Amino acid sequence: MGLFERSEEIFEDENILHDDYQPQSLDERGHELEQYTDYLQPVINGAQPRNIFLYGKTGVGKTAATKYLLHHLEEDAKQYDDVQITTVYLNCEDLTSSYRVAVALVNALRDPANQISRTGYPLNAVYEMLWERLDEIGGTVLIVLDEVDYIGDDDSILYQLPRARSNDKIENSRVGIVGISNDFKFREKLDPRVEDTLCERELHFPPYDASDLQHILEKRADHAFRDGILDGDVVPLCAALAAQDRGSARQALDLLLEAGDLARRQNDATVTEDHVREAKQLLEKQRIEESMKDLTSHGHLTLLAVVASTVADPDGIPLQKQTLYDQYQDLAQATDRDPLGGRAFHNHLAELSMLGILDRTKQNEGRAGGIYYEYEIDVALDAALSTLENLHMSDELDLESLRKNARENGLI
Ligand code: ADP
Ligand code: MG
Repeated sequence: MGLFERSEEIFEDENILHDDYQPQSLDERGHELEQYTDYLQPVINGAQPRNIFLYGKTGVGKTAATKYLLHHLEEDAKQYDDVQITTVYLNCEDLTSSYRVAVALVNALRDPANQISRTGYPLNAVYEMLWERLDEIGGTVLIVLDEVDYIGDDDSILYQLPRARSNDKIENSRVGIVGISNDFKFREKLDPRVEDTLCERELHFPPYDASDLQHILEKRADHAFRDGILDGDVVPLCAALAAQDRGSARQALDLLLEAGDLARRQNDATVTEDHVREAKQLLEKQRIEESMKDLTSHGHLTLLAVVASTVADPDGIPLQKQTLYDQYQDLAQATDRDPLGGRAFHNHLAELSMLGILDRTKQNEGRAGGIYYEYEIDVALDAALSTLENLHMSDELDLESLRKNARENGLI
């Protein structure tokens, strides 16, 4: 027997559950696709394309819908001799400046044998190469900048590109931009002149509800798993859990894939509700670990303060900032660190809330005026504890008895 053997008992084709699998149709986005198609219509008409801004939380089908429509646009344009379309899709995750985006665009539009290097040219020279290439290509050039918020503050390209024609940089081609972002605040941060042009048309993708997610999962599961492998309640449970959380199809698919993988690793004959629950814990733990990696030690202590306060007084949830701050100061002293001031501590709480590790609710102080925040942990306590344990912060922190108390209080 070899070291590796193909295991096929659970999956028929697990790739279908992966993020980069392109579904043939996107049934649950009918309304959004209709609107999106309308916005792209000028392209087929040979008119100046509209710039489109697409936003919505992660996992709601923005990328899938865009790739789906680009594909159809290119196909359908073939029947019109006078329409010539070039599409470029760029994910900006690694393109954190206008310079990098411009180089990536030049290379995407150029012949593979004629690429430019990623350093060594002045920005203006790269722009010149871009205008020249765009003019050579002619027709309509549709440029998709996915996760466009990664470009950051250095966003001159978002100003230059849409205006290239009106500023006489190009004359033979019409450029349209589709900007996609998970972060709606990105828009507010833009220079108003950039915002006006980039967001000429805008489209919001809302989170999916449980029944949307159930349909999406059923279709993909059908070809991903072997017949009869999924217990009947597995798909509805994945859909319900993801809907309760963020309404993300990505999250729902991840859960289903991880549940199947657990069944495979445990040599079980079917995938059950228990596998889904176990998968949820595992994924949640990975997510916290991932987002905790970049925190400072005070960020870690802040989370520990929330966990410890929760365990100490489960009835005291949601927790007041002062309770947490007292707890945090004790922990900082126990580990020989100078505690941060109240304001800096507050920033750590805000950061953990932004990462989805804490849930923060605003409270009004009634007639006395003023608002304040209350906090509670928004991930499985067990997952937060294991993450903290794995950090090996200090021997002075008795995480073992914390875990024991949490168990005694029925919190884990
Ligand atoms: P976003 O770009 O909004 O973060 P994606 O478009 O990448 O989200 O979608 C995440 C995952 O969910 C992908 O695997 C995608 O194929 C799938 N997905 C999203 N919406 C649908 C849908 N309506 N039907 C089928 N699969 C979908
Ligand atoms: Mg995306």
